[in-house]
Amino acid sequence: MVRLIFLGPPGAGKGTQAQLLAKNCSIPHISTGDILRSAVNQQTELGMKAQSYMDQGELVPDALILDMVGDRLGQDDAQPGWILDGFPRNVSQAKFLDDLLEKIEQSYDCVVNLDVPDEIIIARLLERGRKDDNEEVIRHRLSVYREQTSPLIDFYRDRQQLVSVNGNQPVDEVSSALEQIVQP
Ligand code: ADP
Repeated sequence: MVRLIFLGPPGAGKGTQAQLLAKNCSIPHISTGDILRSAVNQQTELGMKAQSYMDQGELVPDALILDMVGDRLGQDDAQPGWILDGFPRNVSQAKFLDDLLEKIEQSYDCVVNLDVPDEIIIARLLERGRKDDNEEVIRHRLSVYREQTSPLIDFYRDRQQLVSVNGNQPVDEVSSALEQIVQP
């Protein structure tokens, strides 16, 4: 049974690594960013409400995110385990997740913090070229990360749930570091 939360700045490689590891563990990779992008593409009500926040590099309001995550973790395929990527992204989401997991009688193994220096992040994101990846939006996403998401590093470290992994190394080296976390 593997349940992990991936933390790290945009461009740290969370998505790539979470997807690989989830596949190896045969559990779903739950990326709130992916769920939101698919809602935007399908022009659902959620997608239409979320789009402007995403385009500007702002967090989508919790009111739109929390039910979405609650629903996803309640689905059948998420019962054998999961990797959460992009959630929680602020302290109130982290508290919501604690309450939710208590309610559904689940717990997680640890929180993986993928560590990558800022200058590397900006270069990687510019290379990626997603719709919300122009330099101004990237800088804004980084400042939102610093202000709202990075406090979660201390939040989880204080609870001895944090494991840091150097994300500034080749993809397969990051992967093997992560493999060691799930199979110590
Ligand atoms: P990245 O890791 O590159 O920042 P994501 O795919 O995780 O990209 O997220 C893209 C966008 O989706 C974010 O900039 C934000 O607007 C929105 N988003 C994703 N997850 C959350 C969340 N948990 N809370 C609020 N907004 C979110």
